Amino acid sequence: MASVEAFECDPDFCPRCGSILPLPGLLEVVSCTLCNFQKDTSDFEGIEVHSRKVFNTVKEKTTTTKQADESVGPMVDRKCPNCGHEGMTYTTRQTRSADEGQTVFYGCPQCKFQETEYS
Ligand SMILES: [Zn+2]
Ligand SMILES: [Zn+2]
Repeated sequence: MASVEAFECDPDFCPRCGSILPLPGLLEVVSCTLCNFQKDTSDFEGIEVHSRKVFNTVKEKTTTTKQADESVGPMVDRKCPNCGHEGMTYTTRQTRSADEGQTVFYGCPQCKFQETEYS
């Protein structure tokens, strides 16, 4: 058995008869040439791979200030006091009680200027 030196992929030994198993190669299963014991080749390489779990660290950064980007809602004839752009988006939101009316949020699509108005 002196001719069997260390291969690139270390050969495993048959747990049943103790002879050297052939290299897995492309097959998914190696079988012992002596006793026909079959060994899954995933046992050879799968250990290292699955022991390291990659956690999904893609957490959304707290970007709460970009509301005007997505809310391309209704536009009003209103001049942006910041950049002079004609036309601003607006969204209304009811405040705590109905008596206080609603709050209107204006947003400039150009400079992202935000304006709040209570009616
Ligand atoms: Zn064997
Ligand atoms: Zn503006």
